[in-house]
Amino acid sequence: MQMYIAGRWVDKSQKIDVVNPYDGSVIDTVPKGDKQDVDAAIASAVRGATVMAKMPGYDRFLILRKAADLMNERLEEFGRTITLEEGKVIAEGRFEASRGVQTLLTSAEEAKRIHGETIPFDGAPGGAGRFGFTMRVPCGVVAAISPFNFPLNLVCHKVGPAIAAGNAVIIKPATDTPLSALKLTALLLEAGLPPEAIQCVTGAGSEIGDALCSDSRVRKITFTGSRDVGEHICHVAGLKKVTMELGSNAPVIVMPDADLNKAADAVAATGYSNAGQTCISAQRILTNNKIYGDFLDALRPKVEVMTTGNPLDEKVKMGPMIREKDAVRVGEWVEEAVRSGARLVTGGERHGTFYQPTVVADVKPEMRISCDELFGPAVAVTRFDDIDQAIALANDTIYGLSAAIFTQNLDWAMKFAREVYSGNLMINWGPQWRADLMPYGGVKDSGMGKEGPRYAVEEMTELKLVCFNLGN
Ligand code: NAP
Repeated sequence: MQMYIAGRWVDKSQKIDVVNPYDGSVIDTVPKGDKQDVDAAIASAVRGATVMAKMPGYDRFLILRKAADLMNERLEEFGRTITLEEGKVIAEGRFEASRGVQTLLTSAEEAKRIHGETIPFDGAPGGAGRFGFTMRVPCGVVAAISPFNFPLNLVCHKVGPAIAAGNAVIIKPATDTPLSALKLTALLLEAGLPPEAIQCVTGAGSEIGDALCSDSRVRKITFTGSRDVGEHICHVAGLKKVTMELGSNAPVIVMPDADLNKAADAVAATGYSNAGQTCISAQRILTNNKIYGDFLDALRPKVEVMTTGNPLDEKVKMGPMIREKDAVRVGEWVEEAVRSGARLVTGGERHGTFYQPTVVADVKPEMRISCDELFGPAVAVTRFDDIDQAIALANDTIYGLSAAIFTQNLDWAMKFAREVYSGNLMINWGPQWRADLMPYGGVKDSGMGKEGPRYAVEEMTELKLVCFNLGN
C-alpha cells in the first residue's frame, strides 16, 4: 500500500516489508517515509486543521458515522487484515474490527456534544457585573502514534476523537502493522473527510518520530506504546499537550473466598489473548495461600487446551507473537525465573514466533517475569497471606493501568478499589476488559491522560474562557 500525505497517495522507492508473523511471508510493502515526508504531512495538516475548525459538528458526526457504517460493511476484510499483519486469531481480528466500528460511532456521537459552561463570576469578590462562559476549540494538528498490537482499534481511538473535536490528524502507525491504519485512512476519505484533514505516514519511529513530535505546528500528541518510547516523546515534545497510553504488568488478586473456576477462566481469557500482547494482559496472579494449589489445579487445564497454529484457522485459540525476538525474550524470562526457584506448571516451549501458553508458579516479585512488562503468553503466580499483603504486592510496580480482584467479600472489593493505584479496577473479572466508551488510561509509568471518545475529545480540545464586563 502507499502512504497518504498532502491529499494524495504517495509511494517511495525505499519500501518496508509487512510480514505475516505466522509464517514470515511478505503480505505487502509500505513506503519508507522520511523527515521530508513528515514535514510535508505537517504542512498539509496545518491547512487541514483550518478546514476542520470551520466544519460544523453535525458534518463531523456524519463523516464519522458514515465511516463506522463502511467499516461495519467490511468487517471481514478488516478482521483479516488485522490477523494477517498482527498474528492474532481471526475471531480476535474480527472482534477488534467490530470494536473499531463502535469507537468511530461513539466518536461521531461526541462530535455533537462539545460544549463549555457558564461561569458564575459574581460568586467571586469583584465579579459582579461580569458574565461569561467557556468554550472548547480544537487543538489544531494532532499526531497519533500507535502500537502494533491493536492496529485498527487503537488508531480509531485517536483518529475518531481527533476528527470529532475538529482537528486534523497525522497517523504514524507501527511499522510492523501499518495496513489497517492505511485502510482506515482510505475509508475516512471515502466517508467524506477533507483530504488534508488526515495524513498517514509510514516509516520507522526511531527515524521520523522526533521530526513529528518536536515540531511546534503539532499541538497535541496522542501516543500508545511502550514506556520508554513514551518517555522519550515527552522529552522531545516540548510545550504541547500529550496523552500517553503506556505499558503495564497487570495484577490479579485471588482471595480465599473467590470462585476459583471463574477466576481461572478469567486468567485464561485475559492472560493469553493476542498471545499476551495486550497492555492490560493478566500477568501477576497473586493467589492466597489457602487456595494456592486449588487455583493452580483449576487454571492449568484451561491453559493446556489452548491450541496454537495458523491464526486464520477458526479452531486455533492462540497465534504467534509479533516477532521471533519477542518469543525468545519471553522464553529467557521464564527460564531465568525457573533458575531462581520458580516452578513451571505448564508450557515453556518456543517454536519460532510461537511461545506456548505458560504458567509459572512460586514467582518472587523481584523476578523479571513479575516486575517488568512481560507482554507475552505467560502468567506469573505468587503467594500472599492476607489482603494487605496482596494490595502491597499489587502496588509494588512502576505501572498502574489495570488490576483485578476475585472475591465475594464487599469490604475486600472496596479496599482493593480504594487502595490499589491503577487506572482500571476490575472486580470478579480479569484486568483485560475494555468497553470503548469508558475512560481508559493509566497512572504512574502507565501514562497520563484518558482515551475513550468522550474523554479523548477533552484531551484534544483547548478550553477558552470568554468574559463580558456588563457593568452594573
Ligand atoms: P513501541 O515500540 O513503543 O512503538 C509504539 C509506536 O511508537 C510505534 O508506532 C513506533 O514506531 C513508534 N515509535 C518508536 N520510536 C519512536 C520515536 N522515537 N518517536 C516517536 N514514535 C516512535 O510499542 P509497541 O511494541 O508497538 O507496542 C507495545 C507496547 O505498547 C507495550 O508496552 C504495551 O503495553 C503498550 N500498549 C499500551 C496500551 C495502552 O492503552 N496503555 C495499548 C496497547 C499497547 P515503529 O513501529 O516504527 O518503531
